[in-house]
Amino acid sequence: MDLRSDAVVLFGVTGDLVAKKLFPALYELTRRGRLDMPVIGVARSRWDHQQLTTAARKSVLEANGRIDDEVFDALAANLTMLSGDYADPTTYQRLAEALTAARRPLFYLAIPPAVFTPVVDGLAASGLAARGRVVVEKPFGRDLASSYALNQALRAAFDEERIFRIDHYLGKEAVEGLRVFRFANRLFEPIWNAEHIDNIQITLAEGFGTEGRAGFYDTMGATRDVLQNHMLQVVALLAMEPPAEAGDDAFRAEEIRVLGRIEPLAPESTVRGQYAGYRDEPGVAPDSNTETFVATRLRIDTPRWAGVPFYLRTGKLMPGTATEVVVEFKIPERALVPGGATPNLLRFRLGRRDGITLSIQVKEPGADVAGHTVELPVDFDAALGHRREAYERLLDDALDGRHLRFAREEAIAQEWRIVEPILDLPEPVAPYARGSWGPAQAQALAGHWHDPR
Ligand code: NAP
Repeated sequence: MDLRSDAVVLFGVTGDLVAKKLFPALYELTRRGRLDMPVIGVARSRWDHQQLTTAARKSVLEANGRIDDEVFDALAANLTMLSGDYADPTTYQRLAEALTAARRPLFYLAIPPAVFTPVVDGLAASGLAARGRVVVEKPFGRDLASSYALNQALRAAFDEERIFRIDHYLGKEAVEGLRVFRFANRLFEPIWNAEHIDNIQITLAEGFGTEGRAGFYDTMGATRDVLQNHMLQVVALLAMEPPAEAGDDAFRAEEIRVLGRIEPLAPESTVRGQYAGYRDEPGVAPDSNTETFVATRLRIDTPRWAGVPFYLRTGKLMPGTATEVVVEFKIPERALVPGGATPNLLRFRLGRRDGITLSIQVKEPGADVAGHTVELPVDFDAALGHRREAYERLLDDALDGRHLRFAREEAIAQEWRIVEPILDLPEPVAPYARGSWGPAQAQALAGHWHDPR
């Protein structure tokens, strides 16, 4: 089934994700002539068409700062609202009536994970699942067993080629760019190994807190929210072996193979933290032991990475918002320069202001022959111009039935296997100050963290 979908159904249309990401993505797709089809918003809230289009307009304006009325009117003309309860079979019957003309609808589950399975079951019972595609948001389960159960529910309703599991990092140009960087440059691949690389650090820092979603966050924590999915996905791209042949299937198989070689994370090399004041937020248990910060050391059992630590850390209310990978190379065995050498760093900026920076040694000005670090930065906005937002690309892909940028079931299972030993640890989380890089114990873990710029 490789034809483009001909309708979109957004479950949870009143929610945060639709407002922040999906309305702007639908607007962009409309602008590019990729979305002339019905878009049905579903929610329990009794919104009318006016409320729906007002919400859509507001979110496009918030995302873009401006709006093209002609484009927005074209989108609004396709929008309709359907209110109903997810446990009520008539909700799906009404949806089926609204979709009589659609042969391949795309169902987007922008709803809390607790209602994924009831909605999938409702779609199956009404016969709608048989001709549609489904997009499932993260979190894909809470652990290995529940992700397996969710898969079973999905597989009972949809064939595998019609299931699209979102890890929106896979839709980011800069993350996908790691593939090109590694395998299209002769320069780095020969030194991309334990002989030349000392350690690799990945920091996913959020300068904000739980943003009014503390109740939901408290059931998750940083490990489930971003380490299990986004961060391990980046590790796989950095660490995978070159595929034996060109093509997406071979590439994805190699990604899964390297995830399979990552050792389960160890509690003794993991630091969990919680920012000051978290327990006072509405919806958070007063004795919550949920981590808003986690730092850990990961090892990959392949010849290429023997002895090379990967340090991962993520947290809320950090000094800023950034996702960065820093590859720290070993210093020359004999740096024939007085004062020795400083390691070369290759920094991938994967967040909003994406790019790459390579630090190299040049001569310090003056009479002495000493080293001085300078940086060779590439700013992708300046070098490459505008690139499409992850959610826009992913929605476009799902409409076309393209799987490359979606998480495979085997990859998700490996990711849960890796994080499982550090989920729900009983040891108390270490407190940290808002606006800091987390608890002091985390600083010691890596010896020296390269903070994002
Ligand atoms: P949300 O705002 O909490 O919920 C979405 C909508 O679901 C709500 O507007 C509500 O609409 C409905 N809903 C809430 N609780 C429900 C319940 N118990 N039963 C049935 N419906 C309920 O969620 P979200 O932040 O948009 O996230 C949606 C999905 O995307 C989640 O799986 C989340 O993990 C994932 N996600 C979100 C983000 C983000 O930035 N927000 C990022 C990545 C992934 P009605 O009450 O009107 O029905």
